[in-house]
Amino acid sequence: MKAPAWAHAPLEVSGNEAGGKLTGLYEIWHDKSGDSVLADAQQVYTNGGFHPLESAGSTGLRPGAFWSHFTLRNNESQSVKLHIEYVDHQLVGLQAFAREFASSKPYRQVGNLSIYSPFKSRQIEHNRFVFEIIVPALSTQELMVKFDSGELGVVFPSMRIWKPETLQRNSKGEISVLAFLFGGYFLMAIFAFVGAITVKEKILYFYSLYCASKIFVWGTVLGYTHQYLMTDHFHWSYASLSSAVAILTGLIFARTFLDTRCYTPKLDYLLQLMMVNGGFLLLCALLELKALSQVSMIIALLSYPLIVPIALVRWRQGDNAAAVFALGWTTLVLGLLLQAMRDLGYVVHSPLNYYWPPLASYVEMLAIMVAVGLMVKRLRLQKDRAEKKYLQQLEVSKVDLEHLVQLRTRELEAAKARAEHEARTDPLTGIYNRRSFFEESRPLIKLALRKHIPLGVLMLDIDHFKSINDIYGHSIGDQALRATARVIAQHVRDMDVFGRIGGEEFALLVSADELGAITIAKRVHGDIAKIIINSSQGPVQFTASIGVACLQGESDILELLQRADSALYMAKRSGRNRVIEYSAEGVGA
Ligand code: GH3
Ligand code: MG
Ligand code: MG
Repeated sequence: MKAPAWAHAPLEVSGNEAGGKLTGLYEIWHDKSGDSVLADAQQVYTNGGFHPLESAGSTGLRPGAFWSHFTLRNNESQSVKLHIEYVDHQLVGLQAFAREFASSKPYRQVGNLSIYSPFKSRQIEHNRFVFEIIVPALSTQELMVKFDSGELGVVFPSMRIWKPETLQRNSKGEISVLAFLFGGYFLMAIFAFVGAITVKEKILYFYSLYCASKIFVWGTVLGYTHQYLMTDHFHWSYASLSSAVAILTGLIFARTFLDTRCYTPKLDYLLQLMMVNGGFLLLCALLELKALSQVSMIIALLSYPLIVPIALVRWRQGDNAAAVFALGWTTLVLGLLLQAMRDLGYVVHSPLNYYWPPLASYVEMLAIMVAVGLMVKRLRLQKDRAEKKYLQQLEVSKVDLEHLVQLRTRELEAAKARAEHEARTDPLTGIYNRRSFFEESRPLIKLALRKHIPLGVLMLDIDHFKSINDIYGHSIGDQALRATARVIAQHVRDMDVFGRIGGEEFALLVSADELGAITIAKRVHGDIAKIIINSSQGPVQFTASIGVACLQGESDILELLQRADSALYMAKRSGRNRVIEYSAEGVGA
């Protein structure tokens, strides 16, 4: 049996293959049902149903299974053992068959791999699918490989050809890249977590969670979860689950970081919708609803770049950290875009674009860490400024308060002085009242006794005052009282004490000897007689009687007043309108 004329030429292999040669791309058949067996594929092959892959490296989103046919030629004089590595990291199943080229011998199975099988059952330990083929010396092997990604759709038919030892060495190299990648994520998550506890910033907790979700999602996407964690029961839905978790934590982080709820409420609805879709994806993954989770995943990935313009809006609003955030997110989006272009077959699958998305995601996390730093710095500054302003205001209100207290104190002092003055003053005449007259007189008497200063007291009573009230009215009576007080006050000197001690009775304590006191009394008496009050019934005039007594060693004002009062009584009794001096023998004028 010969190879069909259209068949692709055999690929020459040697014992030194280093993954540089790709195969499996030139003769492909898409089995839409996915149920085909080797015999079906052979039949289709014979009928010319295998064609080269149309796109750069991916089958695109198509359900079912794919069959690939290729031939490997060994021109060396010894047989070569090769490891064929399937580049796709998300393949669900692979079956490989081989036979001597163009022979009628049946194919023998050389590889049978499934993501659902325990990892340890793999013929060759690798996070991606690898099977072994031996090409005898100077011969050609023909291979038929079935591969499918279940309903995940996108598959890469490319296979790399390796010398087994070289593949192992290369894997170790990859491990170091991964150690850098995952170690970095891990450290960032731990640092952020410890930082969050120390500085009590909510955003650092979310950052830490976001980092942790990156470990989960890239670990799964790159095929390490089933190699190291879920070695026995890995399921396609874990990939969706990890993506859902990463998408959700990413969105929660972005929403918290950009504080869209507060600053851009309309854009916040968009973020909320994206989060609902993320939650839906999580639910679909948990319920293992493949088709729905696929749709939800596409929506999530298509809407993910929207975070960039939202961050730029926040930047325009004055948040510089948002610009750095936008930069970080753009890196991630570019990484995902490259991945999408690779998955959809626009870009050839290569180690660079294989690792580019997780590396972009790594750079994103670094940029976001800078943004978080800027944000925390801004919050600190805001807090400091607020504190400073608060202290300034406190100082201002303290000064205001002190001023107010001073004002109130002065007012209170004035009110107190007013009240004291009112308590001491007769409201009608404005001179001392009875109580004050006595209070003020006492120290003067003491002083006079000590220093032998002569003192006299005048006790004055308006004559027939009742009849003034009766005839002219109470207000004319009041005017008479005020005029009398004014007239007496003209004779009062600094040391003297003058007060209204009864209705129409006045007392005047003067530092004067007997003669002096009598003289003052007579002047007062004369002046009162001259007072004229105008009333509606004509001018009103009145007189006063005055009793005078002089200090004779008594220490109390009451005693002195009593004697003056006796003299006044005498004055009244002897006809009023006169001055009488008290004397032990009798009354003198
Ligand atoms: P005498 O010559 O004996 O002193 O007779 P009098 O009328 O002056 O004396 P009396 O004690 O009989 O009357 C005093 C009057 O003074 C009675 C009272 O109505 C009046 N009076 C007391 N306080 C005031 C006052 O503040 N205003 C006025 N308008 N009258 C007063
Ligand atoms: Mg009287
Ligand atoms: Mg009187």
